[in-house]
Amino acid sequence: MSSMRFFDPHIHVTSRTTDDLERMASAGVRAIIEPAFWVGQPRTTLGSFVDYFSSLIGWERFRAAQFGITHYCAIGLNSKEANNEPLAREVLEILPRFALKEGVVAIGEIGFDEITAAEERAYVAQVELARANDMVVMVHSPHRDKKRGILRSLDIARELGFPMEKLVIDHNNEETIESVLATGAWAAFTIYPHTKMGSERMCTLVQKYGPERVIVDSSADWGVSDPLSVPRTAKLMLERGLAPDTVERVTWRNALDAYGQSGQIDVEALLAKPAIDQRQLFADNSVLRGQDPRVETGVPN
Ligand SMILES: [Zn+2]
Repeated sequence: MSSMRFFDPHIHVTSRTTDDLERMASAGVRAIIEPAFWVGQPRTTLGSFVDYFSSLIGWERFRAAQFGITHYCAIGLNSKEANNEPLAREVLEILPRFALKEGVVAIGEIGFDEITAAEERAYVAQVELARANDMVVMVHSPHRDKKRGILRSLDIARELGFPMEKLVIDHNNEETIESVLATGAWAAFTIYPHTKMGSERMCTLVQKYGPERVIVDSSADWGVSDPLSVPRTAKLMLERGLAPDTVERVTWRNALDAYGQSGQIDVEALLAKPAIDQRQLFADNSVLRGQDPRVETGVPN
């Protein structure tokens, strides 16, 4: 366990503390993807989106690196806020400015929440943006009416001629896994504490369906969630007797293969022990508050 590395390909780390980043790094989380999402209450102006997207490719990437975690992100207009159509149109217009930047591995998270016509319009526009730029898409699925939302997301992508191997459907469960895998898309699972998809159910799913195109993530955010979901689930899988290679695929390699299609991920570099230099600043700002900076040189794999 102690030598395992993990990739959490869905975590809203801007909502988490430096304690979380330290615990993640020491549990073996080497890299993460932070998809753009809503922030708990609706934004009212375009500028809020601009600043949020900037922080995902700027400060948050720096902050994670200060603790030895490589941070990638996905840029997109989330389904909830797609329902404010005047603002949504403005956001869609500025998306390419951020989506094509270094370290952006996908358009996401996009998809359906209440499954409205406005959500569908935003989803279509963003799948088309991804297709035009040969990008991966990370799809959020609704908590209510999940299966219908997922089937609609898959159908639309297919109708638009989007390559299924570049589509990652997230927040799956026992009722949706077969439909997703049957299309050739990737099936990601969010492991929440105490509810919904737990680690136990995830083990059973991998035992039943195998590891191919299956991805485990935490989706940890500002709500009740667990930034250590991925390493904790891996531990339980090993205890349950799943093969180490299977566990490695669903908690590391599959997500790298899926999002590596962006050309933005240097897998070799992720295998090395990361260098940490907390003397560094980002726009004159440090993560430290007078503590002694950690300075560690990286060790090649
Ligand atoms: Zn999310």
